[in-house]
Amino acid sequence: MKSAHSTVGLYIHIPYCRKKCPYCAFYSVPIDTADPNRLIDAIFAELDSYDITEPVGTIYIGGGSPSCLPGDPLIEMADSLMSRYRNVSEFTMECNPAQADEATLRQLRAFGVNRLSIGAQSFNARELKTLGRIHSPRQIVEAVRIAKKGGFENIGLDLMFGIPGSSAKTWRHSLKSAAALKVQHLSVYSLTIEKLTPFARAVREGKLAVVDEAVERGMCKAARSLLRNAGFAQYEISNFAVPGFECQHNIRYWKNLPVVGIGPAAASWYQGKRTTNVADVAKYIKRIEAGRSAQSEAYIPSPEQIASESAVLGLRMTQGIDMPEYQKQTGFNLVRLFGDAIKKHSFHGLLECTVDDHCRLTEKGLSYADTVAQDFIL
Ligand code: SF4
Repeated sequence: MKSAHSTVGLYIHIPYCRKKCPYCAFYSVPIDTADPNRLIDAIFAELDSYDITEPVGTIYIGGGSPSCLPGDPLIEMADSLMSRYRNVSEFTMECNPAQADEATLRQLRAFGVNRLSIGAQSFNARELKTLGRIHSPRQIVEAVRIAKKGGFENIGLDLMFGIPGSSAKTWRHSLKSAAALKVQHLSVYSLTIEKLTPFARAVREGKLAVVDEAVERGMCKAARSLLRNAGFAQYEISNFAVPGFECQHNIRYWKNLPVVGIGPAAASWYQGKRTTNVADVAKYIKRIEAGRSAQSEAYIPSPEQIASESAVLGLRMTQGIDMPEYQKQTGFNLVRLFGDAIKKHSFHGLLECTVDDHCRLTEKGLSYADTVAQDFIL
């Protein structure tokens, strides 16, 4: 297998969902107005406009809900991608539990998709309803069963804590239910109330009560201890895996390695440039069909910006920042650049520099990751 440093990641954004969840601030549109084939043609045309010189090591099809597309276009897309790129070691697709179709999943597996990320969120029916999700707890169990039957041996579930109305008890139930499904990966995120969402309005109007920060911190701690006891190792602030099943594509983001993002609203970090595509499917297709760029933003970060981003992202991983590797990648010595921050947070027991030349958050520091990260922003 080629190292992550000599390959590039490919992210494909399918911005369709069956129904918009009221907490979601990601760009997505309802599938009923969509012309999936036209979007997929545009996606491949955009891909052709890139001169990707490195082997593609990981592919991630995310959304939105890619699984809300009909099976055939999805299977064709997987097939075309796999015949273009021969060095793909990990090929993930996101799947909504309500849209796990056995025949489609079996075909996707056969055409090279080898990792499935299922948006479970909660095993509590009331919480799923609060979140406006279209699936039930039973459908999560069913989706995992179907995926395993279809040949998937690398399955991840997303779980969310801090859902209004949730408690330590319902959270433990979700964690235990997820672990009992014997999947290989769990992503555990807290609900963020994003501006301009129906949830933000409901909170403002006093119709939705947010979970207290201290309670959320307790939920986070409970996840760490319960999942560790269930055989998962935490490798990033929000991510746990059975050893050997860490998400290679997402590790690229935390190591600040190149990823080409294709599709509406997709972001790329490639050949020293950060770009974001226009967050509008119709405009995206129109631009690509007219032979124009889909990018609505592009900039070249300064070496200091890259060094700062790499430090902030690297600290998210439990192994921390490999300091010699950091110097090779950014040209900066981490201790010289962030000496004051390292000293301050080491003094408070939140950060440690280890004998094996890594700088990382301590167990206590994992609960204060955002506070520590602030001091690594230049
Ligand atoms: S399914 Fe996912 S992307 Fe779609 S609206 Fe809900 S949270 Fe957002």
